[in-house]
Amino acid sequence: MIDPRETLREGDALLVIDVQNDFCPGGALEIPEGHKIIPPLNKWIAAARELGVPIYASRDWHPERHPSFEPHGGPWPPHCVQDTEGAAFHDEVDVGDAIVVTKGTRFDKDQYSAFDETGLAEELRRRGIKRVWIGGLAQDVCVKATAIDAAKAGFETHVLPEATLPVTPEGGAEAVAEMRKAGVTIES
Ligand SMILES: [Zn+2]
Repeated sequence: MIDPRETLREGDALLVIDVQNDFCPGGALEIPEGHKIIPPLNKWIAAARELGVPIYASRDWHPERHPSFEPHGGPWPPHCVQDTEGAAFHDEVDVGDAIVVTKGTRFDKDQYSAFDETGLAEELRRRGIKRVWIGGLAQDVCVKATAIDAAKAGFETHVLPEATLPVTPEGGAEAVAEMRKAGVTIES
């Protein structure tokens, strides 16, 4: 595992993707052992804060009847419904002072990526960000989509393998291959 204090520098941003109750054990769309990414992620968050590196925390924030929900034609059980406990950030993830990026609020489509029509790429460019470091849930869904979009938007993109987990191991392996193909660096 690389040391965040030795790694982060000016021009970096940390992106914490969807560390919400519904994606952790006991949640509506639980990722097996999803909560285990929180301690390593918190080390990155603490280092970022110390070094003045901006921290953005995305959240899936669905209206009731969202089209990604099975009863409304989507692939997922209902999850992260706005203002519910399931949509809240996990108690242990240290994102109290992070800038929140909200996605998944539209009725016409889902948004897996924190960059999908959120204006995040423009925001990061305005701040002079060149590199992004990404962790969170799930590796094979929203982390993958966010990392690929970050690389496409021209950011040097790194995913922290100890700070992300997939819905399924097979999905995780495919996600790693797809992200690498898109130019994302996955530290090992
Ligand atoms: Zn969702």
